[in-house]
Amino acid sequence: MTVQSAHKETIVLHAGHRKDSATNSVAVPIYQTTSYQFDSTEHASNLFALKELGNIYTRIMNPTTDVLEQRLTALEGGAAALAVSSGQAASMMAIQNIAHTGDNIVSSTDLYGGTWNLFSNTLKTMGIEVRFADPSDPENFRKLTDDKTRAYYAETLPNPKLNVFPIQEVADIGRSIGVPLIVDNTAAHGLCKPFDHGAAIIASSCTKYIGGHGNSIGGIIIDGGNFDWEENSGRFPMLTQPDPSYHGAVWTEAVKPLGPIAYIIKARVTLLRDCGQALSPMNAFLLLQGLETLPLRMERHCENASKVASFLQSHDKVNNVIYPSQMSGETKRRAETYLSGGYGPLVGAELKGGMEAGKKFIDSLALFYHLANIGDSRSLAIHPASTTHSQLKPEELASAGASEGYVRLSIGLEHIDDILGDLEKALDSV
Ligand code: PLP
Repeated sequence: MTVQSAHKETIVLHAGHRKDSATNSVAVPIYQTTSYQFDSTEHASNLFALKELGNIYTRIMNPTTDVLEQRLTALEGGAAALAVSSGQAASMMAIQNIAHTGDNIVSSTDLYGGTWNLFSNTLKTMGIEVRFADPSDPENFRKLTDDKTRAYYAETLPNPKLNVFPIQEVADIGRSIGVPLIVDNTAAHGLCKPFDHGAAIIASSCTKYIGGHGNSIGGIIIDGGNFDWEENSGRFPMLTQPDPSYHGAVWTEAVKPLGPIAYIIKARVTLLRDCGQALSPMNAFLLLQGLETLPLRMERHCENASKVASFLQSHDKVNNVIYPSQMSGETKRRAETYLSGGYGPLVGAELKGGMEAGKKFIDSLALFYHLANIGDSRSLAIHPASTTHSQLKPEELASAGASEGYVRLSIGLEHIDDILGDLEKALDSV
């Protein structure tokens, strides 16, 4: 029996595991095995036919990874989850699971750069068109939808703009047409529960706040179990028509006795089987270790970030601070509606001195690490215009929300005096 709770602080410690059934181990064991002995030929054939659930091969399932999947499912209030090798693998599979050549998805323009590349280049080579919608008006999603649209896609708290996505508004439009909303909740796990606002699927990176210590790459797809694929069967033949890759299984039928988890089971037993983006058991263990303190860490990340935003706001070398609590109008309303327990762990600042100031500032930091990541327990910084966004022209930079003087700060768990002291020194140097 695992402990049931509605509280995230308890869920991250107890969901999916009480003690190991073989050894009574309280810490989740690392099942570093590729394969599992079948009890008999009948047992083996039942497992392959999905008549019985159980372990076959670690590319498709693993008991350590299973705890991570159950815990994140419980945290987000979903029905089931699939852990994969990276956040990128999660986004890719979340779409590939319901869209193929000739189909399209409508995505928010405000995306992580890697996802942007995946959507505008790699998916295109596979014949999946991605139409980009400006989320400032949710109706833009409806306008780009046609009968080949298989999903909407967005990030809860996209950086560098940090403008919270209108989850309920776009999910409602999608549900009225029969299109599920996939949300990348990477920067807001513990602050926002997209399923409470109508999202159908979560596809996130665990590399950031879930792992939280900058040591493991991983991703998660969570099925909300709240989207009726059968009612919209015309859009989702991959779930509602016989699948030739699995002896003609109709996923929505075959999986019914197990619950509303057709989407995630199909992803596991077809895409993960065929494409192999499996998470290693060791990484699942490290991500679980991080997950145990996610709510506690998120609280402090947000508290420190809020203090950093106020400090930067009053600094004379800073033109503009980008932080959800300091926004106004509809953008502020969205932050207040969709985030609870803090305004997020990321802060943007536009330095008055532009490109040169941005670079000088980064070079002068001593406590903050200069690297291309977010969500470490340590404070991190990057100057997008000279790194991640260096191929963009000034006007493109502005529309991406990263002007020449923009610096992105992922605020860590150090003492706030040390964080502010480092920022002050770096600002003095520009
Ligand atoms: N989604 C967001 C919002 C991200 O910031 C990132 C990585 O920075 C990813 C997805 C991709 O995750 P991963 O690096 O684990 O592949």
